[in-house]
Amino acid sequence: MAKQIQAIRGMKDILPQQTPVWQFLEDRVRSVLNRYGYAEIRMPIVEMTDLFKRSIGEVTDIVEKEMYTFEDRNGDSLTLRPEGTAGCVRAGLEHGLIFNQTQRLWYQGPMFRHERPQKGRYRQFHQIGVESFGMSGPDIDLELILITARIWRELGLQDLQLQINTLGTSAERAAYRDQLVDYFKQHLELLDEDSNRRLESNPLRILDSKNPAMTELIAQAPTLMQHLGDDSLAHYQAICQGLDDAGVTYVENPRLVRGLDYYSRTVFEWITDALGAQGTVCAGGRYDGLVKQLGGRETPAVGFAMGLERLIALLEETDVMERLAVPDVYLVTLGQAPEREGVKLAEQLRDRLPTLRLISHCGGGGFKSQLKKADKSQARFALILGEDELQKQQIILKPLRGGEQSQIGISELESTLAELLAR
Ligand code: ATP
Ligand code: MG
Repeated sequence: MAKQIQAIRGMKDILPQQTPVWQFLEDRVRSVLNRYGYAEIRMPIVEMTDLFKRSIGEVTDIVEKEMYTFEDRNGDSLTLRPEGTAGCVRAGLEHGLIFNQTQRLWYQGPMFRHERPQKGRYRQFHQIGVESFGMSGPDIDLELILITARIWRELGLQDLQLQINTLGTSAERAAYRDQLVDYFKQHLELLDEDSNRRLESNPLRILDSKNPAMTELIAQAPTLMQHLGDDSLAHYQAICQGLDDAGVTYVENPRLVRGLDYYSRTVFEWITDALGAQGTVCAGGRYDGLVKQLGGRETPAVGFAMGLERLIALLEETDVMERLAVPDVYLVTLGQAPEREGVKLAEQLRDRLPTLRLISHCGGGGFKSQLKKADKSQARFALILGEDELQKQQIILKPLRGGEQSQIGISELESTLAELLAR
């Protein structure tokens, strides 16, 4: 036999047993976003490499070591998108969507980062991202956070913790930056290699380090709060106030910075303990500088992205799985006339009961083997139509998860199923 080719490391197939949870997640999120007036945008998954270099920043994990970059046949340097914001802004500018107007957008799809694969960290993973443009006040930041809180509620996810912080404006950060560099310079021996390198180029990123050996050092570092001007403080406090009003609990975390360069003022993350080290399921913030940085006019913007694999892992721990995508009915027919009648019947039922999930047996076989397939499908009921039943215009309804089978008239089948489905 020829050697089989395997999927690429860190890139996963999502198998038919898993897609029902994915669909559940995607449907719920889509529904919430739709209700808040957000419109979907779909961008290509490949962009010019420069787009990511200019937006994410040269001195970031992503650009330094995680991008899938290649030369295409024309010699252009292209990159599989590591995140969606850059492409969304690029598309928005290219099509005039974010010029002098407000815009509420979302997108969904695979992202690519060449990281070390482990639980909750893959090389192809999926995000749903939301971006809003043209609104500078704290009200829109708050709206986005309230959207995420609603999404968790509607998914039935509890135990997620909201952390928020503000990064101020770039001017405010500049003063803080010097203080931070001084602090780290006093503890050079405690800095790991990455942090050493970032000390001059991007010291705030050191606060984002996941290295446990540096946790203590980072916890003692000076914070940005005392460098904030009145406007930034007011912006931040208005969001906290709004969260209080809405009854959304949060933790203020002055060490929270984002991995990407383009954030300003608000940053937030939703975190869980249930997934080990990969505990952030959603991250976002304000990025007022990015649109201009990418060639547009100064445009306030704020957004977030959620990591679907991590949310799926959480959902799989809940009982949603049990309720999802099991067929209601598996139809077994025996003999030529019942088989023909079965097709007719199944189509009629699908017309009349639009939510019915009915699998018609295909591929022939005897009673036993058909019933085995019915059982394996996890359907709640088997319907069995043989020559005898057909002659009497009856059908057998057999519960597959315990209970007695019964014979009912074909004419009553629709109402009987409707009643069973409603339970
Ligand atoms: P992390 O700190 O976990 O590396 P990040 O700061 O790089 O995350 P973002 O760029 O903010 O992540 O992406 C938003 C979300 O996308 C993350 O909170 C996470 O849920 C998810 N995510 C990021 N990278 C991966 C990955 N390699 N595999 C799976 N999910 C990911
Ligand atoms: Mg990362």
